[in-house]
Amino acid sequence: MAAGNPDSSWAAEGYDAEAVRRKYREERDKRVRADGPDQYRVVAGDPVVGKYAEDPYAERAERAPVTDEVEVAVIGAGFAGMLLGARMRQIGVERVRVVEAGGDFGGTWYWNRYPGVACDVESYVYLPLLEEVGYVPTEKYAKGPEIFEYCRRFARHFDLYRDALLHTRVTDLRWNEEDAVWIVSTDRGDRFRARYVCMTFGTFLHPKLPGIPGIEDFKGRSFHTSRWDFGYTGGDSYGNLEHLRDKRVGVIGSGATGVQVVPMVAKDAKELVVFQRTPAIVDVRENRPTDPAWAAALAPGWQRERIENFSACIAGESPEVDLVDDAWTRVFHNFRKTRSVTESEAETMELIDFRHMETIRGRIAGLVDDPATAEALKPYYRFLCKRPCFHDEYLQAFNRPNVTLVDTAGKGPDAVSENGVVVGGKEYPLDCLIFATGFASIRQNLRDRLGYDVHGPNGQALSDKWKDGISTLFGTQTHGFPNFFIVSYFQSGIASNQAHTLDVLSQHISTVVREARDRNARTVDITEDAEDDWVRTVVASSTASAEFLESCTPSYYNNEGRPNVALFRRNGPYAAGILPFSRLLENWRSTGDYAGLVFTL
Ligand code: NAP
Repeated sequence: MAAGNPDSSWAAEGYDAEAVRRKYREERDKRVRADGPDQYRVVAGDPVVGKYAEDPYAERAERAPVTDEVEVAVIGAGFAGMLLGARMRQIGVERVRVVEAGGDFGGTWYWNRYPGVACDVESYVYLPLLEEVGYVPTEKYAKGPEIFEYCRRFARHFDLYRDALLHTRVTDLRWNEEDAVWIVSTDRGDRFRARYVCMTFGTFLHPKLPGIPGIEDFKGRSFHTSRWDFGYTGGDSYGNLEHLRDKRVGVIGSGATGVQVVPMVAKDAKELVVFQRTPAIVDVRENRPTDPAWAAALAPGWQRERIENFSACIAGESPEVDLVDDAWTRVFHNFRKTRSVTESEAETMELIDFRHMETIRGRIAGLVDDPATAEALKPYYRFLCKRPCFHDEYLQAFNRPNVTLVDTAGKGPDAVSENGVVVGGKEYPLDCLIFATGFASIRQNLRDRLGYDVHGPNGQALSDKWKDGISTLFGTQTHGFPNFFIVSYFQSGIASNQAHTLDVLSQHISTVVREARDRNARTVDITEDAEDDWVRTVVASSTASAEFLESCTPSYYNNEGRPNVALFRRNGPYAAGILPFSRLLENWRSTGDYAGLVFTL
């Protein structure tokens, strides 16, 4: 039944809408906590749990400080930094320096090597610039090692290693007016100059731990999933965790990471106890190897077409063909229609939501043998309240005799002891405790998030300028900070395939840099008016609804149950979506007058 169909009512389908709403509300209320987003400990810089942030994958080699000058500095070597580097190469920039805290390119794919790690957005649309690099992933949903290796291949292809500074954190960014350059300082004693700086934000940057009392007392081995200790577990990202065969292992966290980790640990651990606070939405994934005949027949331009087709399907634009045709496109096709529904259609959308969640819950009942475990794994909240997960082995893992689900009724464990985890007065003894508890919110304050501040020509700090809300033009430039570019989620086009947004932003930034170079401009900045206009456009586009966000079970989507809707609207994306955003930027550039930009000679 389509949205708006007069028969699409709860009553017509025999459901009691009020009972469903009440159930969702009860489940939400169990989880709302007085400490909201403050319940977590962000491990970076924490004197007690700071060890959870250390890089277990590569030694930090000593090197001499760098004091030279480059044309473009890019901070961050995740997909955003990689794309910026590539686009700068394409416009002919000779000196591009990527600075990265991790030991290699890849960002999230550098840090997240846990067993089972894989992308669940189709890899043919997710991995950037496949045609340019000359690569086709081996599976529809590539696994982490392949993606990480692709990041390295990408960096080699665009010659980004040459000037890169890895295992290096920027500590300060300061404009030098006299020479019109940025002075970049780092924790390795570097102090180099850059004509242009591109700052990337990352999304899931700093691992966090739950603030469970006693967490520092545990005497067994414990680590966060983004810092996996293969020395302890054995095996690698593909599994075979041979050292766990005589170990009792606990996993806290059942988000997208927990869902991928649990089946792998379940295969190898002597015992696995999963401590669940909120069940995830787990839909089918149906991974499959790439068909060589399909790959061989791909015509030039295939990736762009597929990326745009995927985003169009997700946005509910109903293109003639759904090229990706997976759980994302099939489900979002219906849900994105919520954007345009009238108030009278809201109930229909709620029904579509409920019907979908019933399918998700029904699937659990069909896959999990023990009825009590199956019931505990059922998510009772609206579909768009949390990021959906996709996996074909997670739910089945709970049928194994060595796996126990401990449902904490929305509260999380009471304590961690020297020996294990305590729930409802019962201690579960463990040798190893794994935190799949996610990352600090992207709404962290700027300095905590980045570890540095940005000081413009008049000494103004960016954290100060943005203290009451972000202000940019297209998310990429902010007034008073010349030759400075930003790639983030804020005030730019939203996409389920984040790589699409990053690609659009990096192309846009490189076009502006090319224009500045062509004009021999000393600086390029934006006007205050252009910035104000864009902030108004972003706020007006926002679909953030206080009612919806408050009704959701807590997560980073709604600031753990405490949404500040005005700030969400301003510090949110341009909600019309990535395709309208991309068209808007293309039109803006195509006129050639670069409205709102100020080039000084
Ligand atoms: P997450 O989505 O933030 O999940 C954290 C988990 O830890 C949640 O289940 C949370 O429960 C649980 N938790 C937190 N505090 C707890 C406590 N005190 N007791 C018990 N449980 C607690 O983090 P994530 O799974 O690492 O995923 C982060 C993001 O990375 C995802 O949203 C996704 O965008 C991305 N990701 C993508 C993929 C992929 O493409 N396949 C894979 C992994 C991650 P509550 O729900 O109750 O808060």
